Amino acid sequence: MDVKQNLEKILTTIPANVKLIAVSKTKPVEDILSLYNSGQRLFGENRSLELTEKFQKLPADLKWHMIGHLQTNKVKIITPFISLIQSVDSFKLLKEINKEAEKTKRTISCFLQFYIAKEESKFGFDYNEATQMLESVEFTFLKNIKIEGVMGMATYTDNLLQVRNEFKTLRNIFNDLKRNYFSAKPEFCEISMGMSSDYLIAIDEGSTMVRLGSLLFGNH
Ligand SMILES: *Cc1c(COP(=O)(O)O)cnc(C)c1O
Repeated sequence: MDVKQNLEKILTTIPANVKLIAVSKTKPVEDILSLYNSGQRLFGENRSLELTEKFQKLPADLKWHMIGHLQTNKVKIITPFISLIQSVDSFKLLKEINKEAEKTKRTISCFLQFYIAKEESKFGFDYNEATQMLESVEFTFLKNIKIEGVMGMATYTDNLLQVRNEFKTLRNIFNDLKRNYFSAKPEFCEISMGMSSDYLIAIDEGSTMVRLGSLLFGNH
């Protein structure tokens, strides 16, 4: 099946209120264009250099999300054009994004990434770390970032109950943050969770945005 057919099939399984991010890391621009021509506009990449190269080659109305760990020294490469940074995993990184956004006179949409998996390698805040940041005076100085939601990755495991519980954890984190820090911020409304192997569970647990790579592009 080609990527257009994959997209059509996947879209029948996703409710209208859930956004699809096509995760195009390592995939050729031809495949991305093919999805673009089918109407897909949201794409996710996890490396800043690859992301920048693809941005330069592809139509300007395509919206790029950074979804991978971002080093502070790479922030300035993507701030001129990035649509949303989903993988904000430290206060230091958020401050750097704000600084570079200010230079380009932009306000950059961000999600806070939370660590919900039982795996060593995954990045993200824990709840206390995030609330300390949100309650700090320094945070109130950040005028060029806008926090619009949370992102998380479940453990890569066959134990679907564990996966479901991790998604529940992220949804609860979102609800607590919404109530305690963002009740007056309607833009704080997204829960980005769910990948190829677990997106249906994620939707069931309240995901508003799924990030699909291999299911959409295949494994070539
Ligand atoms: C690669 C990646 C995805 C997509 O993974 P698939 O299993 O290929 O759907 C989603 N989110 C993040 C953060 C990723 O790095």
